[in-house]
Amino acid sequence: MRRFSPHKALGQSFLVHAPTAEALVNALEPGGDDTVLEIGPGRGALTRLLVGRAGRVVAVELDPRLADRLLAELGAEPGFRLIIADFLTWRPDFERPVKVIGNLPYSVSSPMLFRLLDDFTGWTTAVLTTQREFARRVLGGPGSKDYSAMSVFCERWCRREKLLSIPGRYFRPRPDVVSTSFRLVRRERPLFPVEDEAFFRRLVRAAFAQRRKTLANNIVAGFGVTRAVAEAALAQAGIDAGCRAEAVPAERFSALAGVLGRV
Ligand code: SAM
Repeated sequence: MRRFSPHKALGQSFLVHAPTAEALVNALEPGGDDTVLEIGPGRGALTRLLVGRAGRVVAVELDPRLADRLLAELGAEPGFRLIIADFLTWRPDFERPVKVIGNLPYSVSSPMLFRLLDDFTGWTTAVLTTQREFARRVLGGPGSKDYSAMSVFCERWCRREKLLSIPGRYFRPRPDVVSTSFRLVRRERPLFPVEDEAFFRRLVRAAFAQRRKTLANNIVAGFGVTRAVAEAALAQAGIDAGCRAEAVPAERFSALAGVLGRV
C-alpha cells in the first residue's frame, strides 16, 4: 500500500500507545449485546479492539483513504460496518441505542459534541478524547475556572467523568497538545427542563461571554436590557446580583432564562 500522509485539517493524529487504546475501550465496557459507534476510526487503534468485544461496530470515517485501509483489514469481521461519511452531517439508519467512542478531531470537537447532545441522541455512554482544554470546559463544575457554557449544556444531558490524560507522544504524528479522555453517560431525562432551548443556549453563552464581568453585566451586554431589569431577573431566579456565571449551578440558568424570556 502507498505511504499514508495524514491530513492535519482532519485532525489525523493516530493513537499508537496500546495500553491507552485498551484503557479507552475498557472504559466503554463494550459487550456482545452492544452496538458501538466509533467516530473517526482512523488507522483502527480502537476499532481493532472493539470488533472482538462489541456485538456490532459501526465506524464513521470521513477520509476514504483510511476507510479503504480499515476495510482491507477488518472488512470481513462479523458485525463490523464502515461508513464513509462526515459525522457532522451523517444520518444514522439504526434505531437501537449505542455506545459511542471517538478520539475526536480537535478542530471539530465542539460541533461533534453538539451533534451528540442535540441530533444523534440515541446513545447511552460515550468515551471521548479531545484536546485537554476542551475537555476541561466539558467537565468543569460551578466554582471552577473551567466551568463554561459547554459544561452547562453537557451537565443538562449527561453525567460527566474524567478518565485519563494522554501525552502527545502517544500519537503519530505527535500533536503539540495534551489530550484528555472523558466519559459521558446520557441521562434518560435532562437534569432540568428549559422552556425555550434556543433562548437558554443564548443566555448561557451570554452569561459566560466575559468571565470577569458579573452575570448582571453580561446580561446587560448580551440582551440590551437595563441594569435594573437584569438585577430584577436575577433576583426572581434566586441568583445573587453580584455573582459571576462561574458560581451559578446549571439549573439556575434555566430559571433565569425562564424569567428573562418573559421580559
Ligand atoms: N480513532 C483514531 C485513533 O485514535 O487513532 C483516529 C483519531 S484522529 C484524532 C481523528 C479521525 O477522525 C481521523 O481518522 C479523521 O480522518 C477522522 N475525521 C475527521 N473529521 C471527521 C468527520 N467530520 N467525520 C468523521 N471522521 C472524521
